[in-house]
Amino acid sequence: MTRIVVLGGGFAGLEAMRVLERRLGGRTDIELLLISDRNYLLFTPLLPQVASSLVEPRHIVQPIRDIRGARRFRFRRDTVCDVDLSGRRVILAEGPIDYDRLVIAIGGVTPTYGIPGVEEHALNYKRLDDAVLLRDHLIDLAEHADHEPDRERRRRMLTVCVVGGGYTGIELVAELEDFFSSYVVPRYRGIDAGDYRLMVIEAGDEILRGVHPTLAERAQRRLNREGIEIKTRTRVTRVLPGAVEVSGGTQIPVGLTIWAAGVKGHPTLAELPVTRDRLGRIVVSHTLQIPGYPEVYGAGDAVTIEGNPGASIPIIPAALAHGRLAGENIIADLAGRRLAAIDFAPRGMLVSLGERDAVVEIMGLKFSGYLAWLFWNALHLYKLVGFRKQIQVALDWSLAQFFPRDSSMMRQPLRCPICAHPGASPREREVA
Ligand SMILES: Cc1cc2nc3c(=O)[nH]c(=O)nc-3n(C[C@H](O)[C@H](O)[C@H](O)COP(=O)(O)OP(=O)(O)OC[C@H]3O[C@@H](n4cnc5c(N)ncnc54)[C@H](O)[C@@H]3O)c2cc1C
Repeated sequence: MTRIVVLGGGFAGLEAMRVLERRLGGRTDIELLLISDRNYLLFTPLLPQVASSLVEPRHIVQPIRDIRGARRFRFRRDTVCDVDLSGRRVILAEGPIDYDRLVIAIGGVTPTYGIPGVEEHALNYKRLDDAVLLRDHLIDLAEHADHEPDRERRRRMLTVCVVGGGYTGIELVAELEDFFSSYVVPRYRGIDAGDYRLMVIEAGDEILRGVHPTLAERAQRRLNREGIEIKTRTRVTRVLPGAVEVSGGTQIPVGLTIWAAGVKGHPTLAELPVTRDRLGRIVVSHTLQIPGYPEVYGAGDAVTIEGNPGASIPIIPAALAHGRLAGENIIADLAGRRLAAIDFAPRGMLVSLGERDAVVEIMGLKFSGYLAWLFWNALHLYKLVGFRKQIQVALDWSLAQFFPRDSSMMRQPLRCPICAHPGASPREREVA
């Protein structure tokens, strides 16, 4: 029996499994096993809309067992703790498992760059639970600010700082602007439009690196018009409860700091005896194999392809292309055929700028505004996995035209150190 194991139930891992299943699913001499620590596929492009209470959290995930349907592969929900490359074993939280072929596709994490205070005092923004926690913190800030009589303190409590001006940070801040202007200000009687402040801090020269410069400028103009402050060429050097320190000195008072500063390799794989790039991603060959271990393939955000940065960018289309090729190359290898090289280049970029605005660059076409926003919505709805989820998200969007967002808090983030914002009540600061 040949056992093919895929690690990670994200875009890359599921695509690899889909290809393997299609071609090898009927073979009784082959066992297909997918392992992931979460039992669902998360549709990350809609995470900002979860944070802003526009879309319900469960509507943007699809259970892996539902995606599998009648397919034969086995799914195991477990956490990968290590990979023993020479022993051909994966060390899982619940015990080791051997493999004959392996695909590593466990994604990446957001780097802290060793900046003090990030882990303790900033909210991460990567997974579904991060977005749900962020949503609750935002609502909690509004709940406290609503009865804060001092205007300056109120504004400080409602200052949200997003660190990272890539498309994830920009889409998030645009969504937060909608949340404050169309929901918080009309509903919280103690908060008016001048009371909240949104800012993006970006270390590079410009926001939306990788997006065509005219579209990036267009996006920046729109965000500035909305009153969102964009600080480029500004490096965060420390995150404190209630402030971010920039350029080693100036402290900006904030109510909440959200960390959305890039992607680095997965820490679980940090000890593997393989070559890594400066972001800690595993370097794989153009056939996606790990040099020295031809039975092991890497795909998605966890890897970088040697000499091909364009095919290594951390976006869904790249993860899908990697997953597909990893699956096809395993099939070719088992059949004794030559392996294929990666052939992927990003065909465009879509960035939502909140309600009724977006910038789109696709196959050489560039457009922005309402049409681009409709295109963004249609494409993401189409790409969402599962008809039921598509209906649920479409309904969330439609209902938002007639009803207010739902601001019921799902958790009480009282004990979180991030809640030690200056506006927290003395009792809350005590327990935080
Ligand atoms: C907020 C946000 C918004 C984004 N928006 C877009 C967008 O609009 N368009 C776009 O193209 N890209 C977007 N991306 C990037 C995109 O989500 C990633 O490039 C893509 O998900 C990478 O796929 P992957 O399969 O490599 O990793 P992932 O999708 O992250 O999947 C990794 C899987 O491995 C599992 N896993 C992790 N660690 C372990 C472990 N130790 N043991 C077992 N399983 C583990 C995870 O639970 C997950 O299921 C966004 C990302 C974020 C964070």
